[in-house]
Amino acid sequence: MKLMQKFMWSFVVLAVIAVTKIENPLIDIMPAIHKVPTSHKVAALTFDDGPLQQTTPEILTVLHEKNVKATFFVIGENIARVPELVAQEIAEGHEVGSHTYTHPHLYKLSKNAIEKELDMTDNLISQHAPKPTLFRPPQGKYNPIISKISRNHGYTTILWSIDTLDWQRPPVGQVVNTVLKNIKPGSIILLHDGVTNSPTPEALGFIIDGLKERGYELVTVSELLQYYEESP
Ligand SMILES: [Zn+2]
Repeated sequence: MKLMQKFMWSFVVLAVIAVTKIENPLIDIMPAIHKVPTSHKVAALTFDDGPLQQTTPEILTVLHEKNVKATFFVIGENIARVPELVAQEIAEGHEVGSHTYTHPHLYKLSKNAIEKELDMTDNLISQHAPKPTLFRPPQGKYNPIISKISRNHGYTTILWSIDTLDWQRPPVGQVVNTVLKNIKPGSIILLHDGVTNSPTPEALGFIIDGLKERGYELVTVSELLQYYEESP
């Protein structure tokens, strides 16, 4: 009887592990997510490096006019200057993720220094928004130590599948074409908030219109993760 009970308990534990794995398959098997395998025409717009008084309001205005939700990977020291913009991002239905406090080369830092970058940003974001569950390392560079620390902070590490290179200030048409030519179900699109005189706000309107014409729905990154399919 005792043996039978033990067997039953093992079964329950295994079943719980299996269900957990199905609920968070990406988080369990991948150190960082570039795109989400799915057959649905969904994609996520992401903006790095804000908030900045000179750039964020313009981007928020376009998103509001087009009724689209996006994800902002914010820098702690920028939030400290304009916290109200993070509050506005949340109030308008966008998602906010961490992009460190000072935007350093994380792989050159000690474990303690990496922890500090994440903790300080977490604390600051949490004053204006829900505790972030997403993390994007600066330059998209990470190693097993950064991945582990990020995971211990409860983050999923998010990279991208479409790089618009908008921070280099190319012509508007080039930014738009990069997205429309490369879009696929589950794409994560990298744009920047925090570069003055960039083509991004103008390109954004055309990107959203073009993607809608192609039947795409734009969602936040956390929403996009829900579309994960084993065999899309
Ligand atoms: Zn960045």
